[in-house]
Amino acid sequence: MKHLKSTLLLLAAVVVSVSLGAKPRVRIIATGGTIAGVSATSASSAYTAGQVGIQTLIDAVPQMLYLADVSGEQLVNIGSQDMNDEVWLKLAKRVNEILNVEGYDAVVITHGTDTMEETAYFLNLTVKSDKPVILAGSMRPSTAISADGPANLYNAVAAAVSPASKGMGVLCCMNNQLLDAKTVIKTHTIDCDTFEGGPSGIIGYVYNGEAHYLQTPNNRHTVNSVFDVSKLDRLPKVGIVYGYANASPLPMQAFVDAKFEGIVLAGVGDGNFYKDVFDVAVKAQDQGIQIVRSSRCPTGPICLNSEVDDAKYHFVAALDLNPQKARVLLMLALTRTHDWQEIQQYYKEY
Ligand code: GLU
Repeated sequence: MKHLKSTLLLLAAVVVSVSLGAKPRVRIIATGGTIAGVSATSASSAYTAGQVGIQTLIDAVPQMLYLADVSGEQLVNIGSQDMNDEVWLKLAKRVNEILNVEGYDAVVITHGTDTMEETAYFLNLTVKSDKPVILAGSMRPSTAISADGPANLYNAVAAAVSPASKGMGVLCCMNNQLLDAKTVIKTHTIDCDTFEGGPSGIIGYVYNGEAHYLQTPNNRHTVNSVFDVSKLDRLPKVGIVYGYANASPLPMQAFVDAKFEGIVLAGVGDGNFYKDVFDVAVKAQDQGIQIVRSSRCPTGPICLNSEVDDAKYHFVAALDLNPQKARVLLMLALTRTHDWQEIQQYYKEY
């Protein structure tokens, strides 16, 4: 009888530890941003991004430890206005290693909101796993009254452990909403409710610690992406030129002179150039510098061969991508080809 009791106790202990051990392993990579920002007082709007370390962020949200076996690492600690190609390459390689070599179930990345959409899209094209990868940030610093970072981090971990998040590509989790990497845009400079999913809307939401999806992304991403940065230590140089009335051709000419490999136009309307800028663009394209037409308009596609004869000049239309994401895709496209038609095909698929 005594023997049976101790066997049962042992069995119970094994069951408990197995069920504890069965919690999904989520790795948080911290990169800085307002979520790690500190202000002089809790009521102050003046603060410095990227001050608090990963362990402080994890300690601030003990509730997420019920959902997952959470651990973290600090990649950089910067305001995301300072995000750059070097950090993107490091981040993509590290996410791939965490998911494919170290066997974690999901990655959550804390990130500033200014360039979160660009990092999300870059990872969407370069992560080689269908496991959840979710970026979270905040609009208020960690020391603010009603800081939004802890809830965003908790929701990101909740979404990361949801089986429904598998295969969704890289997502952003902000303000209870899940947004897909291709369509997510920051729309407001200071509001907590700043991220939107463009005309297609949000992809899902997180409520009571559970992720709910409303739609799936319809573009190629992650395991279906051809882009591979595992052997790269730099990315092709691509700049963005802004369009406006009476625009100066000098910024575009400066990129040409500096031997950039590609230039994205944040054009007016349907990706249109001011005439002086157009002349430089035609010459640049003739020299093998790929011109991609996007728009400063917040919504609407760029129509191929409509107002601008793309086929004649070998320009590429960014279609649904805003200038900053069109730049990300052009950098990756140029790692594989300089053929304008192949590059246009990437814009159709990704
Ligand atoms: N400029 C900072 C950044 O992007 C603050 C914006 C934020 O994180 O909300 O990191």
